[in-house]
Amino acid sequence: MYKRVPGTRDILPEEVYSWQWIEEIARGILRNYAYQEIRTPVIEEASLFSRGLGEFAEIVQKQMFLIKNKEDTYALRPEGTASIVRAYIENNLDKIKKFSKFYYFGPMFRLERPQKGRLRQFHHIGAEAIGSIDPNIDIEVISLADTLLRSWGVNGYQIQINTLGCPEDKKKLVQLLEKELKDEAAALCQECQVRLNKNVLRILDCKNEACKQITAKLKLQDKHLCADCQEHFKEVRSGLDGLGVKYEVARHLVRGLDYYTRTVFEVKHGQLGAQDALGAGGRYDNLVEELGGPKVACVGFAFGVERLMLVTQPAAKTTGGLTAYLVTLGKEASREGRILLDQLRKNGIPCETDYEGRSLKGAMRAANELGVKLVLLLGEDELKKNVVMVKDMAAGSQEEVSRQELIEKLKEKLVQNSKRKDQN
Ligand SMILES: [Zn+2]
Ligand SMILES: [Zn+2]
Repeated sequence: MYKRVPGTRDILPEEVYSWQWIEEIARGILRNYAYQEIRTPVIEEASLFSRGLGEFAEIVQKQMFLIKNKEDTYALRPEGTASIVRAYIENNLDKIKKFSKFYYFGPMFRLERPQKGRLRQFHHIGAEAIGSIDPNIDIEVISLADTLLRSWGVNGYQIQINTLGCPEDKKKLVQLLEKELKDEAAALCQECQVRLNKNVLRILDCKNEACKQITAKLKLQDKHLCADCQEHFKEVRSGLDGLGVKYEVARHLVRGLDYYTRTVFEVKHGQLGAQDALGAGGRYDNLVEELGGPKVACVGFAFGVERLMLVTQPAAKTTGGLTAYLVTLGKEASREGRILLDQLRKNGIPCETDYEGRSLKGAMRAANELGVKLVLLLGEDELKKNVVMVKDMAAGSQEEVSRQELIEKLKEKLVQNSKRKDQN
């Protein structure tokens, strides 16, 4: 028997309703904020990610799903941003309009040792605003993330924000950290000893206890920031205050990818454990140029959908919105039923029938389990009279309806039904 690849999951129909709920809410809100959906391939040239995310980024060094053939090395995308930037450049979207806002849903892949809470295929919902340096767009993106969380009914999350500054400031921050941490090198974990010379920022989010203690002692200020970057961050904070978005400034927050500049943020949730973020994002003002495009500034974020699932209660599971169930008695009625069912479906009435040879009682039970509002009965009598017996499950009533009027009658009944529901 075949099994799933470790670190992947089947999302079965019962759970898919929750996914659709999350996506539908997100689509509505993203539309309100004027973001447009973009869909890019899950496979890209591997160098897009090593170039974009940084050669020493953990994702690139340890977690890339590589596919090699004779000439090329491809990678299953580990995140969405680099692909979207690639698409923006390749399709000359900057020539159409310099400023664009995109959102995306989809699977991402990381070659991790499968363990609790870590999947090799997981899903992101993300948004990217490309082409503006205006702090208003940082503010919009963070408040959009906040609005999404509220709309999904997530409680108890914290938004942490920080600024890395422009590339010059970031260099200063790196030098500062290298200097401060050099004397502590021996006490750092093995990985951080390597990071000290290659990716020192990464030490700040090391999960090792010893490293955490050392970095907690660092007095990180905003001294590495130039006046412009300080002003930008001030504007972002006061904008968030003005919108009532709650956040805390976390000077240790750096994010692990090379492309981040200036504003970075992370959404934490207690239920996920101290280290796990629900989502994260920030500015990446040089990535487009770095990947061969024009010099345009960007900001974006992504949420992990599997993690969201752990902290939301999606709306009650539905039956998938089935309205009617057709029960036929006898061969003749079954044949006629096929036509009836087809008419109903083509007229926008979601319905189902029995394909398992159930008895009348069994079919009624099946209808009940599906939670349909109406059961349509078609037997010899009804065929003769050219009618259908319509049982209203909620009202407990039934009536004969002529075939000519059936569609109209059913639509009426559904309107009544939903009105009755509203009154209750
Ligand atoms: Zn700066
Ligand atoms: Zn460490």
